[in-house]
Amino acid sequence: MLAEGVAPCKPRSARQRAQGPTSCRPPDGAIVCTNSRQEIGCDANPAPADTMDWHMNKHRTLFTGATILPMDGKSEDLAVGDLLVEDDLIAAIAPNLDIDDAQVIDASGTVLCPGFVDTHRHTWQTPLHGVRTDWNLLDYLTYIRGMYCICYEPEDAALANRVGALEALDSGITTLVDHSHLQLSEAHSDGLAEGIIDSGIRGIFCYGTYRNLAYKPGQDASDLPRLLGEVNGPLNEWHKKNATRIRDTYFADESARVRFGIASREFETLPESESMLEELRWSRTLRPARISIHVGMSSREPLNVVRELHEAGEIRPDLLFVHGNHLTDDELRMIIDGGASVSSAIEIEMTYGAYPVVNRFTRLGGQSSIGIDATIDFGGDMFGQMRALLNEWRLERSLQNPLKMTRKVHQKKVLEIATVRAAEAIGFGDLTGSLTVGKKADLLLLRTDALGLTPMWDPYAAVVNYGNPSLVDTVMVDGRIVKRNGKLVGIDWPALRDALERSRADIRRRFSLIPEQPIRERWAQGFRIEISD
Ligand SMILES: [Zn+2]
Repeated sequence: MLAEGVAPCKPRSARQRAQGPTSCRPPDGAIVCTNSRQEIGCDANPAPADTMDWHMNKHRTLFTGATILPMDGKSEDLAVGDLLVEDDLIAAIAPNLDIDDAQVIDASGTVLCPGFVDTHRHTWQTPLHGVRTDWNLLDYLTYIRGMYCICYEPEDAALANRVGALEALDSGITTLVDHSHLQLSEAHSDGLAEGIIDSGIRGIFCYGTYRNLAYKPGQDASDLPRLLGEVNGPLNEWHKKNATRIRDTYFADESARVRFGIASREFETLPESESMLEELRWSRTLRPARISIHVGMSSREPLNVVRELHEAGEIRPDLLFVHGNHLTDDELRMIIDGGASVSSAIEIEMTYGAYPVVNRFTRLGGQSSIGIDATIDFGGDMFGQMRALLNEWRLERSLQNPLKMTRKVHQKKVLEIATVRAAEAIGFGDLTGSLTVGKKADLLLLRTDALGLTPMWDPYAAVVNYGNPSLVDTVMVDGRIVKRNGKLVGIDWPALRDALERSRADIRRRFSLIPEQPIRERWAQGFRIEISD
């Protein structure tokens, strides 16, 4: 529903959207919404970034009576406090703020904390929720990266990224690093970039330089061996041109809400280091906010990526190493010495039989963060990841000192890794990750007055041990409310759900046309995995 007197926004072009959510202004004489509990929608362009624009900008929003967890390492937690947002920034936090001209959101019965920062997600996999949850790593590589990856048309890619980012927002994730393999054509890349930007989330769109299989489902398979042989070739000219085009079209503003990054191929599968170094040096010419690299998931052969990068002097703060389960302490120190960081996907790493590195890396003094990774196995929220990390951390500590009565790791440490530490790990530490005056207003309200959480004793336990997406009442990104009263604002969910179902049926049909065995053998060879029953 539109607020009375409000004209619908006109849809904007991709380029306009990329430049920022500033084109939708109140028509003369329109009634500007001042009721924070009113749902605001825009039929012509339902993205929150657009619909909330003139309702929120130049407004002050005052959250009152919340339990506030600043997570900045300096400020005291407030058992009951107020937080003021002016435009896109946090303007004040105090036990009691007396502000006249703000729209007031009664936040009593909630915990107010920074939005979560997910530093690793393959957002394009959103339509594959639960496709199979008993696969091993080779199954994942064969089916998802080898087969489903080539079943997407551009409209499937755009829908997947938009809905995936909405799923993240709905659960309180306000910043997302999208490691995007799916650059199959220019149209795919456009759809993926637009999907993330349109969702209203903050983050980094990491363009994947993968040489995906150039095979269309249903095509004559006799040429498949040759096409599979090309997958590990050097970075091709098409990617160089397309990545540059995407950066210039959507991410020219390096301070925008969503920024450009690179998702490198798995360098460990390359036969020598020169291709890796050449690709890395080219990547840096595009000034990416981060270069996301999968490492140490299985073998570190034939190329020991971290050691080679260290010896070439190429480990710098712009690198985000993902997983790293099989890296040695020496290799982790090389990452730390270079000022780079690590993202651990706790649940998925454990389910594929790898021990998460986040605690080891943190102990060595490194900058750790956590990510969701692939939502084919688990829900796309941070609560499950935080609980998995907490329990893994506690178990590891107990096993090291089985007879000592060591107090358990507190939830606050985990919440730090999911917020402020993660923001620092991706270079967004000055922007987001904590409730700090002057930082962007990226935050969430978690209901603590619901069944199962009342009465609430410890707000950290409420978020980490008891939290789930249905308790997330309100989410704000960049000063714009994207979720309110438990519902995403301006989103036609039944229409999106129908579109996802149609997309799933198309993807499934295309998948059935692809021969599996040569693709499986190719991935096993690339990752040095033995095929067994
Ligand atoms: Zn990944």
